[in-house]
Amino acid sequence: MAKDYYQTLGVSKTATADEIKKAYRKLAVKYHPDKNPGDKSAEEKFKEVSRAYEVLSDANKRKQYDQFGPELFEKTGGQGYGPTGGGFGGGTGGFSGNFSGFSDPRDIFSQVFGAAGGMGGGAFSFEDFLGRGGRGRRKTAQNQPMKGEDLTLQIEIDLEDVIFGADKKIRYNKQEQCSACGGSGAASGSSRKTCPACGGSGYIVSGQSFFQQQMPCGTCHGTGTVITRPCMECGGEGVRNVETEVQIHIPPGVDSGSKLRVSGKGNAAPNGGSNGDLYVITQVRPHAVFSREGQNIICNLPITLDCAINGSIADVPTITGKTRVKIAAGTQNGAVLRLRGKGLPSLKGGERGDQLVHIQVETPSNLTSAQKEALNELHLTDSNYPGISDFRRKAANFMK
Ligand SMILES: [Zn+2]
Ligand SMILES: [Zn+2]
Repeated sequence: MAKDYYQTLGVSKTATADEIKKAYRKLAVKYHPDKNPGDKSAEEKFKEVSRAYEVLSDANKRKQYDQFGPELFEKTGGQGYGPTGGGFGGGTGGFSGNFSGFSDPRDIFSQVFGAAGGMGGGAFSFEDFLGRGGRGRRKTAQNQPMKGEDLTLQIEIDLEDVIFGADKKIRYNKQEQCSACGGSGAASGSSRKTCPACGGSGYIVSGQSFFQQQMPCGTCHGTGTVITRPCMECGGEGVRNVETEVQIHIPPGVDSGSKLRVSGKGNAAPNGGSNGDLYVITQVRPHAVFSREGQNIICNLPITLDCAINGSIADVPTITGKTRVKIAAGTQNGAVLRLRGKGLPSLKGGERGDQLVHIQVETPSNLTSAQKEALNELHLTDSNYPGISDFRRKAANFMK
């Protein structure tokens, strides 16, 4: 029973060419006979992943594989696939008989890792292809390795941190330069050679003479050279996954969604480029007492009916501690008191915002009948409720 090639490489059926190549590189290094001398099962695995890669890395073969499955490619009689192979010959238009078994797994390995002979023994010269213009531009593009990937993390902070700023320790995973090969990706004692894909220029030129486009070379990541033997620790990537810790300073005035850049704390670059950056996005935790409107802090203050009628001095919480405010006699529900400078700072500096105290007059509840009776004794009239009288007058036409 032939094995599923996607499973063999541990990738999904929708994997990109890049993902397939990455998966193959990891497994090929793991099971390479040089790393597992005399281990028959490793050798078998090495062959399996090479076969799977050879088919799935070729767009045409992959299409056929998706249609017909692995049986089509697993050689049974040593003769390749003729018209007798089960009726594929006629229908699929000319592929029957073309496919006669697999390449030497070591050749595939060499091609992927860019070892000697991988590009077909100099069948054409990259120098010719690039021409003079190519030579002229080499100087600028060569040896400019790509930067490492940027990383993004979210952290939760408290409203207090927004006022004072904070120092936080964050643990996260990133790619660090492989210590075994110093980030070169090359096994110790081996050297690098000119990249066969770009001829050492570090970029690929596509298109016709007048409309040429320059793209960084994907094979050598723009360095112009490739390794001849991969480092067995990192599979030739030059980087490894590690858990790391970084101390960051959160400046006063950040908001939910603020993005802080920590330079050089992203992933290490393959082939010795500079590190990517770490971006930390802050999320301010909801607070039990305070909410936020830009630079202003909002705080609801419930007061008694008595306090609203007679006025009083009330304690108000602020983020930096208690303060006292004067409640005027006759204060209405929904009145807003402003405490200047008790709000939040801005990232740009300058004055702090204000704290806005929203007064909420609480209607007394759980009154005894005696208390209710006493309220009736007040004999309140329309003149005690100017707001209600005003509303009635304005709404009269709409209440007929
Ligand atoms: Zn390494
Ligand atoms: Zn290249």
